[in-house]
Amino acid sequence: MNWITNYVRPKIRSLMAKQDVPENLWEKCPSCSQMIFHRELEANHQVCANCGHHMRIGAKKRLELLFDEGRFKLEKLPDTPADPLKFRDRERYTDRLKRARASSGAQDAIQVAEGTIGGQMAVVAAFDFGFMGGSMGIAVGNGLVRAAELAVERDAAFIAVPSSGGARMQEGVLSLMQLPRTVIAVQMVKDAGLPFIALLTDPTTGGVSASFAMLGDIQISEPGAVIGFAGARVIEETIRETLPSGFQRAEYLLEHGMLDMVVARKDLHETLSRVLKLLREPAPAGDVVNLPSAKAPAAKAEPEKAKAPSEKGKASGGAGNGGNAKSQGTRAGAPGAGNGDAHGGASGAGNDKAETAGVPANPGKAAAQKAQAEREHGK
Ligand SMILES: [Zn+2]
Repeated sequence: MNWITNYVRPKIRSLMAKQDVPENLWEKCPSCSQMIFHRELEANHQVCANCGHHMRIGAKKRLELLFDEGRFKLEKLPDTPADPLKFRDRERYTDRLKRARASSGAQDAIQVAEGTIGGQMAVVAAFDFGFMGGSMGIAVGNGLVRAAELAVERDAAFIAVPSSGGARMQEGVLSLMQLPRTVIAVQMVKDAGLPFIALLTDPTTGGVSASFAMLGDIQISEPGAVIGFAGARVIEETIRETLPSGFQRAEYLLEHGMLDMVVARKDLHETLSRVLKLLREPAPAGDVVNLPSAKAPAAKAEPEKAKAPSEKGKASGGAGNGGNAKSQGTRAGAPGAGNGDAHGGASGAGNDKAETAGVPANPGKAAAQKAQAEREHGK
């Protein structure tokens, strides 16, 4: 009865073992070596309470963190050929894939979901580093392309959250083809006038950093994330020089202009909500007059925004301070608040508001021109 001892009994044992107490109740922080209780770590979104080290998290957890109230709808990704090159190193690629699928419960290293962030529609494509190092093969490329298409279909912002070692070696050149594919996918979103935000997490390296991950309209990163193309050791060996401390870390990249923001994990949802609101619902430069081309959101924002310039006009007009008004005018570049102030007085403000309203096609530009004119006038 070999099959009982060899097959049935281990199967039963493995079923029983699953209900046991998990072995790793405590986890060691890789940065400060502090032992952290797993519940505490869970409550803190896998961030060390002692040193603030951001540990890697899976794709599902990431999506829960980013979307409003952790609610989202997963997108079904297209099927892909499992092992196009019949690749085999120490073991078969198909075996590796099977193992990764069994342990992660996902089909590949990416999950795409749609939902709202701060009330704004968004499509998020999150990588799972646990799945073969988050490497980008055909399936991941397909996932990103599908996510971009979905963003365009839904008129939503596209947020990519890479956590990847780069291209998937087992898919060879097919994996390298995903670099231009993902770049084109991102361009599709941008062509549709929708924002693309890259939220880089530890690690964003290799082919991923060499493609879509560096093309965000806004580049955000988590603290301490490793971001780069080649590894620091490889670079050191090649150029035979010691690299500066903190090289390829998020903070270093921020300092050197490669990132716009480094945001702690607990603040990500709030930050993304704010950024998306700024990008999707920009404040009008002045009163908005109804034009056939005027979009719905701008019209909605009209009643509250219309008050602001007139109040400001009164304030600075009362003071009669030309210098002050000038500086306000220059600052007004983007939101265009208080354009009319330089001319002082409430009536001037009123006229100018009407003027800006006449060119709503590019209110930011109009405000900038006005500011320019005022500067020259001030001289
Ligand atoms: Zn720590």
